[in-house]
Amino acid sequence: MIAKQRKKPVELIAYELLSKRKQLSEEEKKRHRSVAKGFEGEVMFDTYLDKLAGEHIILRDVLIHHNKYCQIDTILLKNGKIFLFEIKNFIGEYYWDDDSLFMLNQVEIDNPLVQRDRAHSILRRLLQSLEIKLPLFSYLIFVNPDCSVFQAPLDKQIILPTQMNRFIKHFPITTNITSQEKEAAEKLVANHIENSPFNPFPSYQYDQLEKGIPCYHCGEMATYPQKQGIECRLCGHFEKGSEAIMLICSEFQFLFPERKITSTSIYDWGGRMISRRRIFRILQQYYEKKGEHRCHFFE
Ligand SMILES: [Zn+2]
Repeated sequence: MIAKQRKKPVELIAYELLSKRKQLSEEEKKRHRSVAKGFEGEVMFDTYLDKLAGEHIILRDVLIHHNKYCQIDTILLKNGKIFLFEIKNFIGEYYWDDDSLFMLNQVEIDNPLVQRDRAHSILRRLLQSLEIKLPLFSYLIFVNPDCSVFQAPLDKQIILPTQMNRFIKHFPITTNITSQEKEAAEKLVANHIENSPFNPFPSYQYDQLEKGIPCYHCGEMATYPQKQGIECRLCGHFEKGSEAIMLICSEFQFLFPERKITSTSIYDWGGRMISRRRIFRILQQYYEKKGEHRCHFFE
């Protein structure tokens, strides 16, 4: 049972939308890749946990606070125990030397064990304060099969890509979810913080962004108006006008929550490809009419 789902980070959604409409700086590209890679790793681990037999409770992407904030990739409640997973989607070859982690070119990287142990300690204290008595075990997971970690210490609960399947199978199948586990999961979900106070978000201005309607098949800003819709010059994908407008409306709302959705604003955002009149009709049809002066809202 999944008690808390994983959502795509808003920072990643922002980069995905922005990368279509502006040239990201090298720093932004790096950040985009890193956030995307982290998320992909977490989703990869989700597919492993989906294979877990028997009954259990999974909480994905939990933000807790106990004196300090802490983001936890995955929490599993199973067999009377709580498991915390810190997931790393590293690619390439790494080696451990004297409690430090290095890339093969000898560049030292932030030790993920420190991150896991910090999460462990904050969660342990939160569990104590919530009077949850189940024992806590924490693992560092290198999830990507294209990653090798040499000389990983054997006594630090590190799971390497080649050990993943065996690790998942080692959990006993038979046990049922206990009321204690259920109660603990409910308390943890209730303590999850939905809006992170330090959600990183790229900065951008409306004027910097290319106007138009991206192709929703290939993502390129290469569409042109066609009868009843838009077509992509590159991949030939056709999108109905109403669908295209709804899609760019949600993009616009996400990137500029303070701006109003009006036929004029969407006309401009969509690169003036679909007539204002048509946009007005589509908005009228799909959007909740705000107040009595709905024309004022849309126009
Ligand atoms: Zn396309």
